[in-house]
Amino acid sequence: MKIRLDRTMCDGFGTCTKHAPGYFSLDDWGYASLEGDGVVDAVDHDGVMRALLDCPAHAIIRMPDAES
Ligand code: SF4
Repeated sequence: MKIRLDRTMCDGFGTCTKHAPGYFSLDDWGYASLEGDGVVDAVDHDGVMRALLDCPAHAIIRMPDAES
C-alpha cells in the first residue's frame, strides 16, 4: 500500500501521528508531513488505515496499487 498526504487539505488535528507515528510528523503549527516515501509496510497497514479513515480533513490519500 502507498499513501500520500495533501498538505493543502490538512487542518492540523494531529490524529494521524497518534495512529501511525512512524509515517507522519507535525510541524510547529501542528500540520502533518509524510515521513518517508509513502510506502506502507504490511505490518503498519492497520495503523495507517486508521489514520487515513480518522483524518477529519481527508488529507491522507491511498494511492492505487501499482500491481494487483
Ligand atoms: S489527521 Fe489529517 S488533518 Fe490531522 S494532522 Fe493528520 S493529515 Fe492533517
